[in-house]
Amino acid sequence: MADPRPTPLDALPPLPTAFAELLDALLPAAWRHTVQASYTAPKTVVWRLNPLRGHDPDQVLQALAPLAPRPIDAALGVYEVEPHWRSALTHHPLVEQGVVYIQGLASMAAVWALQPQPGEEVLDLAAAPGGKTALMAALMGNQGRIAAVEPVRARFHRMRANLLRLGVRCAQPYLKDGTVVGRLVPQRFARVLLDAPCSSQAQFTRLDPTSWHHWSPRKVRASAALQARLIHSAAEALRPGGVLVYSTCSLSPEENECVVDGLLRARDDMTLEPLPWPVELPALPGLTAWHGQTLHPDLSLARRILPTRRTDAFFIARLRKRGA
Ligand code: SAM
Repeated sequence: MADPRPTPLDALPPLPTAFAELLDALLPAAWRHTVQASYTAPKTVVWRLNPLRGHDPDQVLQALAPLAPRPIDAALGVYEVEPHWRSALTHHPLVEQGVVYIQGLASMAAVWALQPQPGEEVLDLAAAPGGKTALMAALMGNQGRIAAVEPVRARFHRMRANLLRLGVRCAQPYLKDGTVVGRLVPQRFARVLLDAPCSSQAQFTRLDPTSWHHWSPRKVRASAALQARLIHSAAEALRPGGVLVYSTCSLSPEENECVVDGLLRARDDMTLEPLPWPVELPALPGLTAWHGQTLHPDLSLARRILPTRRTDAFFIARLRKRGA
């Protein structure tokens, strides 16, 4: 039988040195304990009701009552359960039927920041496995069109299956490299989400050192180079007056503020805007300087969502293209 006692903290493997140094550089004292604790204990499981499956929310909540769900914001249909219910929820028939979707709060926040509207033409430039595409479709009531782009074949097929399961009818999946989309369909979309491939620090947990096996400062640099190409493509595909949301699950400024700063230096038709969020999230303003480099002052409008017991690390910036 598994030993139910928690592992003493100093017996857990430390986070990679470069990442621990990054946290030291980024975190104000008031947040250090909460953030450090998020790496040593399992997180609560956040999920949302999927309105596209048309189930009565009261009946769904009744069926899940043994898992004691707590509303994070009942109006939005977002709930959480304690970490020990993760497996029971993941394998629950309501999840298999697409009535309930397990999705992190920070991940949802990127879509809330985009505010897609029914009837619009929207681009999801790095879309698999389709979690954010599905939330966009829910907010749009399946009205309009979402172009969901993903170049990795296995992930593309997984996304297609997910969208089908979740009742998404307004999305068209494309097996394509996102860096070429701006050139193929310039000035086209009312809204663009670039939830960019990144060095994936959000998965780190000291309970499982394999969670950072694929991470390195070199991966941060390689990700930043791809992100720079993708954000230019995203801005090119956006029509004048349109909204672009850039997000990553990385804390590294090189993958976040520096990428947005590079876009703002290259184009004078993009401006940063405040983030419209319907729920309160633990977040810090974006950085306006890093490693001696001065960044665009409006980057303080971006948000760095902090890793806590209920949220993953995330960076989100909202930009608008000038003109109507
Ligand atoms: N938005 C997705 C969701 O919420 O379900 C998660 C996206 S994940 C952070 C980034 C995705 O970008 C991965 O599926 C990855 O395969 C894809 N990707 C990698 N290179 C890309 C490229 N050149 N163009 C577009 N997408 C790319």
